[in-house]
Amino acid sequence: MIIVHSLAASKELKKSTVINLNGVKIGGKEIVVMAGPCAVESKKQIVETAKAVKNAGAKVLRGGVFKPRTSPYSFQGLGKKGLEYLKKAKEETGLPVVTEVTDSKTVKLVSKYCDILQIGSRNMQNFSLLKEVSRINKPVLLKRGMSATLNELLNSAEYILSGGNHRVILCERGIRTFETYTKNTLDLNVVPAAKELTHLPIIVDPSHGTGRSSLVSSMSKAAIAAGADGLIIEVHPKPKHALSDGQQALTLEQFSALMQNLKKTAKSVGRTI
Ligand code: PEP
Ligand code: MN
Repeated sequence: MIIVHSLAASKELKKSTVINLNGVKIGGKEIVVMAGPCAVESKKQIVETAKAVKNAGAKVLRGGVFKPRTSPYSFQGLGKKGLEYLKKAKEETGLPVVTEVTDSKTVKLVSKYCDILQIGSRNMQNFSLLKEVSRINKPVLLKRGMSATLNELLNSAEYILSGGNHRVILCERGIRTFETYTKNTLDLNVVPAAKELTHLPIIVDPSHGTGRSSLVSSMSKAAIAAGADGLIIEVHPKPKHALSDGQQALTLEQFSALMQNLKKTAKSVGRTI
């Protein structure tokens, strides 16, 4: 049995939380799609992607600039320069931006440039970072740790809520299992389970959840059917040349086709996209 010690996140407190981001409502009837590259690589790449995902119907632009990579020799992100490029993409499209913050010391800087702060899977239980973002006046996208239970995810959310930041969006991004064909196992159980326990919105990341672009469409539909409030999807103009996570990125064309398809899925469960 799961014991939700997390009082501020508890469903007993209220039915649902809708996070309003300049008119983009996360946790309402509309399924909010966040899309963009794993990492910001250049001004051209992020601006081109931003324009394409906006045209396709995405409501938030994603793009990492501080990349937590398994190997220290892999591309680590563009850092501050990447934040400038995200700003440019936002100016060109009007899309709000979500980007990952990996370190307490850069929370203030990142929050100057972005609209939603992402706490990545590897940092879900970085309690000093959670406390730092609890003091920021920006919504937080909290990704589930790859080996974290739902109870642990909700307790991490509680750190942010109890510190004074009530705008937390949960994100299921796949967990570690014995399966190796997929990068992770997307645990869609957690979507309706979270809805039983908490009022917080929950979105799904089918890109990291599968690690394979060919599976993203099916799992996006499944996530919507399971009751997700949104999706976060990796999209790249040239996935084969991506500096990170290219194997799971959709092309701009694939993303646009997917968005058309998802309208039908959303409608079938009484939602819009
Ligand atoms: C990402 O969003 O690019 C990312 C690194 O995600 P996660 O923390 O879920 O691995
Ligand atoms: Mn990625």
